[in-house]
Amino acid sequence: MVIVKHYTWLLIVSLFAIWSSHQIPSWPNSIQALVVFFPYVAVALGVFIALWLNRLQPVLILLSIGCFNAVLFYFSSFGLNIPVTADTLFPILIVLLPLNILLWVFLPEKGVFNVRLNTLVLFIFFVQAAIVFWLVRSLPSEDLALLSIPILKDSDILFLSFSTGLMFLLTLFFLVLKMNQSSFKILYHAVFVVLVLMLYGFNQGFELDVLAWISAFSAIILTFAIIFEAHHIAYTDELTGIYGRRALMEYFLGLGKKYVVAMVDIDHFKTFNDTYGHDAGDEVLRRVACVLNNVQGGRAFRYGGEEFTLVFANKTIEQVLPELEKIRRTVEAGVIEFRLGTQSTRTRVTVSIGVAQSHEDLYDAREVLTLADKGLYEAKATGRNKVVVSDLKPNKIKANHYKKIVKKVS
Ligand code: GH3
Ligand code: MG
Ligand code: MG
Repeated sequence: MVIVKHYTWLLIVSLFAIWSSHQIPSWPNSIQALVVFFPYVAVALGVFIALWLNRLQPVLILLSIGCFNAVLFYFSSFGLNIPVTADTLFPILIVLLPLNILLWVFLPEKGVFNVRLNTLVLFIFFVQAAIVFWLVRSLPSEDLALLSIPILKDSDILFLSFSTGLMFLLTLFFLVLKMNQSSFKILYHAVFVVLVLMLYGFNQGFELDVLAWISAFSAIILTFAIIFEAHHIAYTDELTGIYGRRALMEYFLGLGKKYVVAMVDIDHFKTFNDTYGHDAGDEVLRRVACVLNNVQGGRAFRYGGEEFTLVFANKTIEQVLPELEKIRRTVEAGVIEFRLGTQSTRTRVTVSIGVAQSHEDLYDAREVLTLADKGLYEAKATGRNKVVVSDLKPNKIKANHYKKIVKKVS
């Protein structure tokens, strides 16, 4: 679902970039003259945000796009006075750009302050500059022309060179490998789309304006991606991958009048940790979170520690009880297998659940949650591994009163 959401905006922005790139010739000259500067504005903005978020990967990808434009622009402006022209450089740069992007994606993300990594990055940039310099100076033009052999001769649609096509295919292939290896990262999907967008731009041949326009949009896409990724990180629990407490509080704000809140707590989890170790405990948290995340008709959050919250919007307790019971049984039935030293161990865990529903006297979802917590307390006190409905008949009690009751109980 998340992936569909992200590909929607990625596709819309890309299609707009492609469509608008065809409109450039119809724009007033004064605006057309500015187009070549757009990528630097977009790259600068993106780099600033990426630096702020301490993300080296996007900084480098954005800088590569910026350098690509700067080199082409520089040599196309002064091309007449110097032996190297933008035309000579273009086939080399469009092979180097995807290679660079791939390199930065595979570079371990260690933040922007890692001196050793930054030195390595600078070295890579210098080596590339030297290689480009050597290629355009020393390689005979016939050899350089090899880079420009088209995939299809005399085609009206496909103008790409064989080398560019191959490099992009390889880059996209390794990128997909990387995406499969790591957990969901919006940035990698954005890079994928940016590469395809760039490929479209390169297919137009050496058109400085189009390349600048497409590059600017690529930088914008990457900037959006790092912002969305930061948002995703802030709202997601790192260990289990489900929504965290901040997301729960926000979700509460948007709830209507009718909803059910359930608090789920793993039984004797401290003992489990003490017996099998923290790593096994973490694995249990992930398994339980996975079961909860598959809840039908509701949404799961990690409240904190070994406690989870389920929220069912527009539902009544009667409607959700079978689902909660199903969850309890699924957790109970799941066998957890892990290695403890040299031995393989099999064990199970159970959960206790307290559940409460909103009421006309009980508007605040946090109060419903406290009520559900009371049910959880009862479940713990009366044998665990059960679902307990907490109905204080709140219509007879003023919203604030039950807080005192809860206090007394705990
Ligand atoms: P009860 O059945 O009454 O809920 O007992 P309990 O032992 O589950 O409850 P208690 O609150 O005493 O212990 C909760 C434990 O959860 C303590 C802590 O070690 C463990 N815990 C909390 N967060 C994490 C985590 O992120 N990873 C792991 N492995 N353990 C955690
Ligand atoms: Mg517990
Ligand atoms: Mg607890």
